[in-house]
Amino acid sequence: MNDIKEKLQTIKEKNLYREMRYLSKPQDKYTIIDKMEVLLMSSNNYLGLANNEEVKKAAIDGINEFGLGSGGARLTTGSYDLHKKLEERIAKFKNCEAALIFNTGYMANVGVISAICDENYYIFSDELNHASIIDGCKLAKGKIIVYKHNNMEDLYDKISTINPTKGIIVTDSVFSMDGDIANIPEIVKIAKEFNLLTVVDDAHATGVIGKNGRGSSEYFNCKVDITIGTLSKAVASEGGFVCADEYIIDYLKNKARSFIFSTALSPGIINGAIKSFELIESTDRVQRLNNNIKYINKKLNEIGIETGGNRDSPIIPIFIGDEDLAMNTSKSLLENGIYIPAIRYPTVPLNKSILRMTIMSTHDKKDLDIVVDKLKHILIENNIIK
Ligand SMILES: *Cc1c(COP(=O)(O)O)cnc(C)c1O
Repeated sequence: MNDIKEKLQTIKEKNLYREMRYLSKPQDKYTIIDKMEVLLMSSNNYLGLANNEEVKKAAIDGINEFGLGSGGARLTTGSYDLHKKLEERIAKFKNCEAALIFNTGYMANVGVISAICDENYYIFSDELNHASIIDGCKLAKGKIIVYKHNNMEDLYDKISTINPTKGIIVTDSVFSMDGDIANIPEIVKIAKEFNLLTVVDDAHATGVIGKNGRGSSEYFNCKVDITIGTLSKAVASEGGFVCADEYIIDYLKNKARSFIFSTALSPGIINGAIKSFELIESTDRVQRLNNNIKYINKKLNEIGIETGGNRDSPIIPIFIGDEDLAMNTSKSLLENGIYIPAIRYPTVPLNKSILRMTIMSTHDKKDLDIVVDKLKHILIENNIIK
């Protein structure tokens, strides 16, 4: 037979069993999770666009005009004018020559890394990179070298020891769990010295960091070779994208298997995303998000809650450690009307569980005050802070 039941049992015994929670209202700051009314502090809907009327209308218009399904892969019959329009919009927003849409950010990473890194390549990858980067590395034929998290000395040492003729450095910009931001200017400098390509995953940076939310290149005022992103977080639709020079995008269209062998996204999804970019550029959502991020960091630090990460990031990790304690703390918060999930192994290392809180532009100061107050009481009750 098989050992799947035993494996499942082991997961449960280690407090690592995962279950879905179900929402029965839209993804707004107040929603209903498992029948409980909560203040949502865990969504990647950073700019509150997922349930925005204009975005929804655009999605519906897209469907009304072109139908629901796209009916084929992009290289067969699935490409609509809308796909091209969104790609041009993304390239403009990200200040790049060209862009290519994938069906998810996950598929973008897997497709790009495996298409570029043949057996002659070295892949230098941050140890805390997103799972989709790790899986892209595994699919690639190149040799994978993992460097210590955001540690530029270690990166430099590893590259200079090998002195590769071809290679990439790949990193999240805003790290998805720890919420810190990679030292991209230094990575670009090292890449130049060794003639390597830079690949940066802006999943949590697009629509979020930089004065106008354009992501890590705007935040640091520097340019990388390939930027990957998702349309599923701040852009509040679905899909992934890659931005780069025209010839790289051209190559990916011909070589990235997760692009070639998958049906194109629905015209509704695409038209919704186009509207989101318009709203990101024409409203003050990014500014409001960043004001909230500053405000809550200050409040948390005032009451002695140590937040890791970067103070400009919408992801605020609260370190707990023990898996069971993290689950219980998250449960107490939920019972108090606040949803902040516990993140456990394998998303973070064993015994390094966190509460992962995210901030949205739609929160107001009153909401954030309530969160800080409840967190304080529950963390004291559980002996996590004094
Ligand atoms: C969420 C995420 C992805 C995956 O994007 P999807 O569009 O949800 O598949 C990729 N990279 C990072 C860093 C992410 O946080």
